[in-house]
Formats: sequence, structure tokens, C-alpha cells
Amino acid sequence: MSGGNDGERRRGGSPGPVLQCEEARIKLMEFLDGELAPAELPRLEDHLAVCVSCRREEMAYRRLEEVTGQMADEEYPDVDIEVAWETIYRRMERGFGWLILSIGLIVLLGYGAWQFLREFLLNPEVPFLLKFGVGAAVAGGIVLLISIGREVGTKYRSERYREVQR
Ligand SMILES: [Zn+2]
Repeated sequence: MSGGNDGERRRGGSPGPVLQCEEARIKLMEFLDGELAPAELPRLEDHLAVCVSCRREEMAYRRLEEVTGQMADEEYPDVDIEVAWETIYRRMERGFGWLILSIGLIVLLGYGAWQFLREFLLNPEVPFLLKFGVGAAVAGGIVLLISIGREVGTKYRSERYREVQR
């Protein structure tokens, strides 16, 4: 018989072979956490065998553990989402960087062009021939730069296109 001694071991509760629900649930929690002494397990099982509400409790906790376990398994997709966000952030940063750089260059080039026009081309003290020479050289340089830039751009695009077609 398993009853008598167990009853005496319980602190202050009414002696008896069967656990009270309150104590059974504490032991149930310990069992589910893997902390229940093996010797205590038969008493818990005895209680679960006769107590429907504690059995329901056990089922609920087991289901909860399953869900938490599934959530732990789903951490890998979460990492992928973080990587995706990281990529988006980096792209936004690059895009923002390019935008600010472009604005800065446009302001500088505009200012340079304005200064060149005002201080040099529109300056009556600068001889006309010098204005003509420098103006022609600058204009020729700009045309060449645009032409080379277009050629490089076209080559780059057609190479990308061929890579995609292969
Ligand atoms: Zn119970």
C-alpha cells in the first residue's frame, strides 16, 4: 500500500493517499518541467486518473508546450525576415547617400558654372579670344564626357542583357 507514509510526509494537509488538486497541480508543473522526483510520479498519476479537471490542466499545458516548441522552430524564418529588412535598409541608405551626393554635386556644378559665367565669360576685362578658347574647350570637354558616358552606359546595359539571355 502506498498511502499512509505519503500522507504523513505532507506538510499540514489532511492525511490521505490521494493528492489534493492544489498539490497535484504543483507536482504536475514540476513533472512537466522535468523536476518531479520519480518517486512522486505514481501519486500524481493516481490523482490524474481520478481527477478530470487536473487531467484537462495537464492537456492544456502540454498543448501550450507544443505551441511554444513550434514558435521556437519558426525562429529561422524570423532571421530571414531580419536579413531582408537589413538589405532593404542598406538599399535605402545607399539610395539616400546617392541622392545627397547628387544634390551636392548639382549645387557645386551649378555654382561653378554660375561663377565661370559671371567672372569669366561675362567679365569685360577678359579678352574675347580667351573667352572663346576656354568656352570652346569646356564645351568640347562636356560633349566628349556625355558621349563617353553614353557609350559606357550602353555597353553595360547590353552586357547585362546578354547575361540575362544566356
Ligand atoms: Zn485534481
